[in-house]
Order: sequence, then C-alpha cells, then structure tokens
Amino acid sequence: MIRLPRFSAEYYKKSLATLETSLNKLDAYSPWRAFDPGVKYPVDERYAALPALTKSDIREHFPRGFVPAEKDIEAGLNNGEIQYVNTSGSSDAFRVTNIWNQAWWDASERTSWKHNAHASQFATGDHPEAILANARNVGIISDEVDLPMEKRRLSHFLFLNEKTDPSRWTPEIMDRMIEELEMFKPAVLEANPSLLARLCRYAFAKNKQVFQPGIITFTYEYPSKLHYKQIRRVFTSHLASSYGSTETGYVFMQCEAGKFHQNSDFCRVDFQPLKQEHGGSDIGRMLVTTFDNPWYYMLRFDVGDFARLDREQKCDCGRDSGFIVDAIEGRWTNVTLTCDGRLVTLRRIDDALSELDNIDEYRLEQPAKGVYTLYLVSQRQDKETLNKEARKILSDIYGEKAETSIIYGEFLTPEDSGKYCLAKALFPLNIVNYLDIK
Ligand SMILES: [Zn+2]
Repeated sequence: MIRLPRFSAEYYKKSLATLETSLNKLDAYSPWRAFDPGVKYPVDERYAALPALTKSDIREHFPRGFVPAEKDIEAGLNNGEIQYVNTSGSSDAFRVTNIWNQAWWDASERTSWKHNAHASQFATGDHPEAILANARNVGIISDEVDLPMEKRRLSHFLFLNEKTDPSRWTPEIMDRMIEELEMFKPAVLEANPSLLARLCRYAFAKNKQVFQPGIITFTYEYPSKLHYKQIRRVFTSHLASSYGSTETGYVFMQCEAGKFHQNSDFCRVDFQPLKQEHGGSDIGRMLVTTFDNPWYYMLRFDVGDFARLDREQKCDCGRDSGFIVDAIEGRWTNVTLTCDGRLVTLRRIDDALSELDNIDEYRLEQPAKGVYTLYLVSQRQDKETLNKEARKILSDIYGEKAETSIIYGEFLTPEDSGKYCLAKALFPLNIVNYLDIK
C-alpha cells in the first residue's frame, strides 16, 4: 500500500472553490455536472468522479469556456495581462492554443523554487539565467543567420541557441555557447537535457573548461540517464528537474534530496494508477488542476506523463506537503509494449539502455507487436559486442521472442516539436485500457 500524501486545509479549500467555479460558471465543464456526486461528498471523491480534460476539449471550448464571464478577454489581451500561446506538438493532435497569464506563471515558478534549497539560493528573480533549449520551444528562431549575443537577450535571460535542429550545430556554435556561459556567468542554466548533453559531449571530447552555474534545471524533455552521465562529465553544478506544462504551470520540482515535490500552492494533482500487470499501483497518470489563475481554469488536465509515487510519501529533505514522487516515468506517447502486451514506461527502458557503455544517443521504436528497432549513435569500434549487449537488454525487457534490429547513425534529429524522442510505439494505444479506474 502507498501512504496517502499530506495536504493542507488551504489545499482542500482551493480544490473545492476551483471545482465549484468550474462546474457552475464555465461552459467547458458544465457537461461534467452530470458526473458530480454532489456537495455532500468529500471533495476528493467529487474530483475522482469527473472525466479528464484533454487537448481536444481545450480546442473545442477555447477560449470562452475556460474564463469566468466577468473577465473581459479582449480587454485582458489589449492591456497585456494575458496573451494566446501555441504549444508545439509532434502532430495536430498535440498542438493547442492556451491563455498565458505571465504574472500567474511567474508566481507559480517562484513558488516551485522553494522545493529545492539550491534553486531558492540561486534563483532570486533577477538572477542571470541562461536557457539552452530548442528555439522552436522558447527564444528566437534563426536557422540561416547566427545571431549575436545581444539579439538573444531578454530581461535577465540569455538564449544560448537560436537553431531548430541541434544535430546541425557546428563546432563554432558550440564554442560560442561555452564562451557566452563564461561571459554571462548565469546563476541558473535552464536546459533541455538532450541539448545540454550534446554540448557536453563536444566539450568533453575537446577537453574544454566550462563555466559552472549555481544550478542547472532540466525542463522541456525527459532527462535520460544517458544525458545525466554526459552532463556530469562536464558540470559539477547542482542538477534538478522541473516538471510542468504550458497549460498547468509548474507542477513538480525535484528537491536537493532527489525526489519530486508537488507545487501544491498552485495546483492539485489527481493520480490514476496503472493496472497491476502494467506497472502496478505506484505508477500512474497525473491529472492537474490549476489554482488561482483567474484567466484560465484547467480542471483535471491530462499532462500526458506518468509518475511513480514514493511509497512512504517521505523525503530526506523534510518537505511533506502534497504528493512526493520518486520519478517522472516519461510520457504516455513514449511507452512501448512487451511481446505479451505489457506496458514498458520510458524510464524503465531508459534506465536499461543507458547502461550501455559509450553510446552518445539512442531512440527505440516499436513498429509492431513484438518488433523493436533501436537506433544508436556510438563511437565504439566493437559494434558486434555492442549489438550483443543491446539485444540482451531488449530481450530481458520485452521477452525472448522480441525481434530486434539495431541501426547505427551519425546523429539523431529531434521531432517536429523540437524535442527528442527516446522511445515510442508506432501504432495507436489507448491509455484508458491500461489504467486501473472504474
Ligand atoms: Zn525532498
């Protein structure tokens, strides 16, 4: 059994107020009233009875269905309080327009830092912060022309990368990033882990000294164990993973002891476990409800990732408000299936493949039941031994009947979303079939 997390009285008050406003005042949720058992029931039970909010629901009711009637959207857009933002996605099914409330976002971010002692120390609000992300996700895109440093500055931020395809980074671009880190001396480096790992492979191979920020936070992507290994060869800085989404703000922050703490002043999390045969009661999907954003009510939004709950709901750091999560297990779109149809999360396959010695990058694809293609980038000469080691890992996880092929390349390219994909099944899967819900 997993122990129940602790929540404050304030958390329940916010949960109830958000639920009542959403069901009674917002068009997007008025059809959900039919599922609500009613005010006599505990708030957790009322939430549990409701559906999950999907990106297609957002598209259908955007924007009016998520904004209370007393809020004037036109006025908010005109005075700059809010704006519309598009999220990137690997297909139309993932792209969506959201309402962005900068003040709320900043407050959610600031509160998330409190869950990590190093983040609270270095992220003061006006600290110099470098961002290494795909320009498709944040910053300024300029694929043809290299932009000078001053064109990549915005308030206390420096965007280190303006390219959409990091596999095309030249040595000159990577030298420039290393020089700019030295000049700018960021207290915080916010990085897309696959991009920072790529920069680190270069710095390590060329034996370059790199400026050490106070803390490096990972966002945008699942940080692979392989990324950690490559980054650790170059950086001794504190590392922490920050978890959230455009729709929900900051949801979890990894503390200095390594576990993830819910940003429970700003969001509610409902957890739906996987069926026993697909991973059991501690791994499941997260539905996130935002608190106190007067411009945008997200209720039980499916963020698309799995989390693994800490069984004891305890952490060495002593923080104990909200869910304590041992690991983010990766996105639903990154799951694969064993030969007998059991679900394998990204974390499970990533932990195993990252043990391979001297590989730069990998991507695992499952084109059909029982069939697996592993793309590898490796400087290792002895490919025959590497093949044997990789095949053993795949058959241990997917089953002895797994048909595997291994393809070597010089580099892997990101998805259209700008993010790297580590694993995916190439056939449709319906998550609901794997969840232990009535
Ligand atoms: Zn902790």
